Amino acid sequence: MNSKCFDAQQIKAEALRLGFSACGIAKAEAVSINVDKAFSKWLDAKKHANMHYMCNHQDKRMDPRLLMEGTKSIISVALNYYPAQHLDTNEYQFAWYAYGKDYHDVMKAKLTALKTYLESISPYPIQSRIFCDTAPVLERYWAWKAGLGWIGKNTQLIIPKAGSSFFLGEIFIDADASQYDTPLPNRCGSCTNCIDHCPTNALEAPFTLNSARCLSYLTIEHREDIPLSEAQKMGKKIYGCDDCQRACPWNRFATPCQTQEFYPNDTFLQMKKEDWNALTEDQYKLIFKGSAVKRAKYSGIMRNIKAVQKED
Ligand code: SF4
Ligand code: SF4
Repeated sequence: MNSKCFDAQQIKAEALRLGFSACGIAKAEAVSINVDKAFSKWLDAKKHANMHYMCNHQDKRMDPRLLMEGTKSIISVALNYYPAQHLDTNEYQFAWYAYGKDYHDVMKAKLTALKTYLESISPYPIQSRIFCDTAPVLERYWAWKAGLGWIGKNTQLIIPKAGSSFFLGEIFIDADASQYDTPLPNRCGSCTNCIDHCPTNALEAPFTLNSARCLSYLTIEHREDIPLSEAQKMGKKIYGCDDCQRACPWNRFATPCQTQEFYPNDTFLQMKKEDWNALTEDQYKLIFKGSAVKRAKYSGIMRNIKAVQKED
């Protein structure tokens, strides 16, 4: 019998010391049958648009023990990205999460530090793997299971008295925790602010996102022209969209992030519409060096700038 066990409180204390905003632990098991069915239904209805990778590895996505054999526990962490300084609202807008350095790199460094700590205090060899938006893991589900918050009607993970502007990451480990956390009940109540404020009606129903209409998907993942009906709803957004987060009353509790890597650089903050319109590829590379915005590529940003002008 495998009796490996780690001290939950010790890991949580170290996670907070490393700068994570929250940390919880869930027992690794297959996701609930309702979640499995809802995800399949969402895929069958093609709500994932052209993100075909979402269809891959469903067995592993629905059971983390198949992603890392022997996984007993999932440590879930959240890192605040709510900006300390915002872009001028008269200028083009970027999603908050993209203001600073690429979260994959920042999260990976912090998760690796937590994993190293875990290994250093363990009296026996342990197997573990870190994840941050890099594998078929239902991150929001595991954050909920680990007691961090609940999944709101806008499909985001909402942390009580803190909001939803958090990156999520996980450590899978082949040891039991001394204590597991309890999922929180949903506290959206009768609120429908996120649905009411979505400019493209991409939130078709509570907890149901149609990616093909979502400006976050269309301005970042989508590789073709943005359909005119959605382009006309972009307003000033040229990378991502935060409207369903801005509308959420729980984000009134958001506090500026303390992670220096997420602070925007001065050039980015000072850009005017005319600067963006005339952006060269070299300037793009300079401004977004080490940023997640690279995902959209220079051509994607310029396509988005053209698209917002369709409304002008
Ligand atoms: S990110 Fe924007 S477009 Fe997408 S669901 Fe939220 S409000 Fe709607
Ligand atoms: S805006 Fe309201 S309904 Fe939407 S996620 Fe926030 S609390 Fe829930």
